[in-house]
Amino acid sequence: MTDIVVLGSTNMDLVTYVEKAPQLGETVTGREFRTIPGGKGANQAIAAARAGGMVSMIGAVGNDAFGTRLRANLEHSGVDTDDLRTAEGASGTAHIVVDDEGGNAIVVIPGANGTLDHLSPGDEGVIAAAGTLLLQLEIPLPAVLAGATAAHRHDVRTVLTPSPAQSLPHELLATVDLLVPNELEATALTGRTDPLEAATALLDLVPEVVVTLGAAGSLYVSRGAEPLTVPAPKVTAVDSTGAGDTFVGALAVALGEGRPMPDALKWAAAAAALSVQREGASVAMPYRPEIEEAYA
Ligand code: ATP
Repeated sequence: MTDIVVLGSTNMDLVTYVEKAPQLGETVTGREFRTIPGGKGANQAIAAARAGGMVSMIGAVGNDAFGTRLRANLEHSGVDTDDLRTAEGASGTAHIVVDDEGGNAIVVIPGANGTLDHLSPGDEGVIAAAGTLLLQLEIPLPAVLAGATAAHRHDVRTVLTPSPAQSLPHELLATVDLLVPNELEATALTGRTDPLEAATALLDLVPEVVVTLGAAGSLYVSRGAEPLTVPAPKVTAVDSTGAGDTFVGALAVALGEGRPMPDALKWAAAAAALSVQREGASVAMPYRPEIEEAYA
């Protein structure tokens, strides 16, 4: 049995580091270029696998060199890629310019992720055999909805990260067990800037909500219980990219093992705090022994 199935995106991040980003029509010389495997789906899959989950990824890469590398990167962290399809054409890419102030501009080309607009035969069986389905919003919404509906039908816990922020159909929210927005996404979904107010408003739509609050930790609310704030460990952050995905992947593993929510949130916070102390997204994600040591 697979503990955790991720239905989501895989992207190659093409990151250019420049002193100052060019305006339209301008050419500048940059300092460095890196290709970094990413995509929220793949990142959550890697985070969960490194945290000790048995993880399977449903997604699509292109039949290009990036696709080969994206698949290998998942497998390297122990993610089962039997249900990761290879689509005709380019893999998803994110074209990122980072300037010296840390500001960035990003263009995402969905590529193969855009072909994922439905479930394939067999996907429902894979989801049905899992304990948890992790979803984000970087693949076409019809596939997200189909995955969530399948999970709901088979009593599989559905965890949705509503990123990139967008308004969500009620039929999707009706299938979600746990919603994990960051502060900005919680505001985008509710129009409330106060995290507790936003989280409480979201309880009208889903039974449980965790709002991640960066260095301030996370806020958990559920119907009929007192809100719970879980602080983040105090660490020196060098790069918070992928912190949210590390948090969700680790949280899914802990909940799947039957840890009560307060402990699972503390465990996820320990994992995410380790990831922000290192550069990069998936490469910075911690393995289980490190999480256990930090959590103790
Ligand atoms: P990203 O988009 O960078 O992946 P996010 O915006 O989805 O992140 P955040 O709320 O910034 O999510 O962070 C997720 C979790 O990571 C937090 O709830 C917290 O536990 C941990 N975290 C983030 N930043 C820090 C930090 N500076 N120190 C310790 N923990 C952090």
